[in-house]
Amino acid sequence: MRWSRWRRSRQSFCGSATCARPRKERQMQDDRVVVIGAGVIGTMTARALAKRGRRVTLIERLPGAAELCSRGNAGMMAVGHAKAWAEPAAIPALGRALLGREPAVRVSRLLDPALWRWGIDFLRHCTASANAVNSDRERRLARFSRDMLKAAETEMGLPVATAHEGALYLFQDAAQFRSYAAKVGTGGEIEALDPAALIAREPGLAAMRDRLAGGLLSHIDSVGDCHLFTRRTAAWLADTGRIEIRYDTAVTGFTRRNGKIVAVETSAGPVPCGAVVLATGGETPDLTRPLGFAPAIYPVKGYSGTWRITDPAGVPRLPFVDETELLAVANYGDRLRVTAIAEFAGRDRSLPAARVKLLDDYVRRSFGAAVDLDTPEFWTGLRPTTPAGPPFLGKVKHFANLWINAGHGQLGWTMSLGAGEILAQHLTGETPALRDVSARARWLEAA
Ligand SMILES: Cc1cc2nc3c(=O)[nH]c(=O)nc-3n(C[C@H](O)[C@H](O)[C@H](O)COP(=O)(O)OP(=O)(O)OC[C@H]3O[C@@H](n4cnc5c(N)ncnc54)[C@H](O)[C@@H]3O)c2cc1C
Repeated sequence: MRWSRWRRSRQSFCGSATCARPRKERQMQDDRVVVIGAGVIGTMTARALAKRGRRVTLIERLPGAAELCSRGNAGMMAVGHAKAWAEPAAIPALGRALLGREPAVRVSRLLDPALWRWGIDFLRHCTASANAVNSDRERRLARFSRDMLKAAETEMGLPVATAHEGALYLFQDAAQFRSYAAKVGTGGEIEALDPAALIAREPGLAAMRDRLAGGLLSHIDSVGDCHLFTRRTAAWLADTGRIEIRYDTAVTGFTRRNGKIVAVETSAGPVPCGAVVLATGGETPDLTRPLGFAPAIYPVKGYSGTWRITDPAGVPRLPFVDETELLAVANYGDRLRVTAIAEFAGRDRSLPAARVKLLDDYVRRSFGAAVDLDTPEFWTGLRPTTPAGPPFLGKVKHFANLWINAGHGQLGWTMSLGAGEILAQHLTGETPALRDVSARARWLEAA
């Protein structure tokens, strides 16, 4: 119903083919929302705004949507697993990482001043009470998002490629499994399974049988190819005329007047606007520094490998996280994707052989007989991560019309639809469906 209202208002707004009357043009320019960045976050924000009848221009520096961090992630909507990285146990883990004793966490650019600034803030959030608050924010946003994802493909008439049958969290260490399983009751959203029950539920794990101490099955998780979903959504929004997308266009600055952004400066000239949403992930501080604030978002590097599946019975159907080796595995039907590692390496996006080997070894050990080992594709992405964990979501103080939706860390796909929806609700003056979901910052009116 909202979509058809949007179409009617757009027709009356832009009745002639040219929309040429100068006054109308001025009005149109004034109310346009420019969303910067066509990753999963910017695209879902643009969709939520268009749904509310806003005229949206989505500007992206790269030639297509979801080409940066949203390209090769694990695709898990980890609702049952949504928790902030900053927790008491992260302090010794960081210590081990600094000594090179933590294969899944690496610090390769120790002398990066941005890392030190971010790291001090991260340590401040490592208390049990801060973790409880931040994890709760992420969990609520994740759950809200997942419920929206379930309907989104059918709502847009896209082929259904996301699955909503849950996810597994596997343990190779018996004590680790017992401590997690003790927190899980029976008959709830998450259930504990011993190795035999795990293999019975998911025969594709048979080759891992000897390593498994047990696992949790979260019934509330989903999985889907974030890159595919984002690109399909962007194409649908553009093809149906709901938004305008400008690819190959870099935003270089802003024109300000009386506390408002009146135009976004781009490599292709200025774009007048009524409001701006920063959905620029890890590059957000580059853009905002000239405006007088720099969100604490650090690029935490991760790696993925994607293998062609040759024997579907030999790989698990459900996605899983190996909680002991800290890898995530997702089955996209024809491809198996494995992701791992949190590396503090600044903006470096190289693929060192040792990191690739870690992924490759895991797949050979676990599913070597069921995938084509000769043609994997490796990728690296920089998770835009805030010290607290939840994203920066809300209006920027001292600017009447500047908004931000950035810093979703390891859960950007999981939180994307919900974060876009909450941002759009605030921007259009609706009552937001969730409150208190954003990370806090001096410069932010946090949603
Ligand atoms: C290995 C790995 C595994 C992951 N697994 C999962 C998972 O299983 N589940 C999950 O929920 N999340 C996962 N994530 C996290 C998720 O991928 C990110 O949180 C998410 O992609 C961030 O989306 P984004 O839109 O904010 O950033 P991006 O995808 O990086 O998009 C930002 C966009 O802004 C554009 N941009 C920046 N500056 C400008 C400018 N000046 N002008 C124009 N355009 C600009 C960029 O080109 C880019 O396209 C994973 C990440 C990694 C690295």
